[in-house]
Amino acid sequence: MAALNKNYINVSESYLFSDIAKRVNEFVKNNPDKKLIKMGIGDVTRPLVKEVVDALKTASEEMGDSATFRGYGPEQGYAFLRDKIAAYYAGYGVEISSDEIFVSDGAKSDVGNITDLFSNDNIIIIPDPVYPVYLDSNLMLGRNIKLIEGNERNEFMPVPYEGLKGDIIYLCSPNNPTGAVYDRARLEAWVKFALDSGAVILFDAAYECFIKDKSLPRSIYEIAGAKECAIEFCSLSKTAGFTGTRCGYTVIPKSLVRDGMSLNRMWLRRQTTKFNGVSYVVQKGAEAVFTIEGQKAVKENIEYYSGNAKLIADTLTELGIWFTGGINSPYIWLKCPDGMKSWEFFDKLLNEIAVVGTPGSGFGKCGEGYFRLTAFNTKENTAEAMRRLVGLLK
Ligand code: PLP
Repeated sequence: MAALNKNYINVSESYLFSDIAKRVNEFVKNNPDKKLIKMGIGDVTRPLVKEVVDALKTASEEMGDSATFRGYGPEQGYAFLRDKIAAYYAGYGVEISSDEIFVSDGAKSDVGNITDLFSNDNIIIIPDPVYPVYLDSNLMLGRNIKLIEGNERNEFMPVPYEGLKGDIIYLCSPNNPTGAVYDRARLEAWVKFALDSGAVILFDAAYECFIKDKSLPRSIYEIAGAKECAIEFCSLSKTAGFTGTRCGYTVIPKSLVRDGMSLNRMWLRRQTTKFNGVSYVVQKGAEAVFTIEGQKAVKENIEYYSGNAKLIADTLTELGIWFTGGINSPYIWLKCPDGMKSWEFFDKLLNEIAVVGTPGSGFGKCGEGYFRLTAFNTKENTAEAMRRLVGLLK
């Protein structure tokens, strides 16, 4: 009989979004005339920009012509795209070479698969609350996980403390779910911790495009020494609306070496063995994102979402509600008023003002008593939801 990976027993079924859907469906059934506003959406809503669509069309035509047809491409990604990504990093002062960049079908796959490079003996440091992929991909391997607490005192940006031990550290900034953005000093503390102990930081920068404050790092490599201790994951999902088109990239510096082994070489070996690359058509679409015109167009969409985030943040400030995020992030993480629990506040918003968010407790124990709102709805719906919130809580 095939013996199975029993660690899957420890990965709890994710009921968060199905529980939300159940309560929402019930509400809609009982209140058919009320307009529901969904502020829990973690997916983009604005379409691909024209520059990307044109590039996708042209590349599709090429694939239908024997003179320009392409079969398997390089597993690491076409040079035309990796060169553009390297130039994008150079645009804000980070020097990465093309052979340190690996194109993939999105950050989730790479964040989940990177566990292949590390042995089972490691202690994995994961902040709570958390994007569930970090936790579940390690639970599936039966790894030793050390959760560290995010809370109001550390503004949901935990840093290393006296006596903390760990070998792999997951950091996400701007953070999903909390919207918190690590400043330079806090990232320096993590880089120092990793360099001193030999740990490796796995830095998820999926939302870097939302950072407008120039003093906040968009890449871990803005911190001295990070190329010796960090891997960075990024994605076109939120940057350019690629959630359904699928393209991301991972940076592994050649100077990242442990036990005499290069993690860049290991990942290349891993990818050439288990991955056959992202389609030519999608990579041409992704290339268009990094042209001058493409950047101008995608930034308009980011500005649109940022405007919504600011409106939510301003409303919470007006209401005197504690929150993180919303300024350099599409997520807003608020403290439920009057000591309410996350699900209690969810039910109140749903039943009294027909607004849907995400209960913080769904992202970990430390999320209890907090609530996530997102900026991905339309401007009109966001404004309407905020009017209702003020009416309810003022
Ligand atoms: N990382 C974080 C923190 C995310 O929130 C998400 C998507 O919600 C991803 C990665 C996944 O990105 P992709 O669509 O590129 O797989």
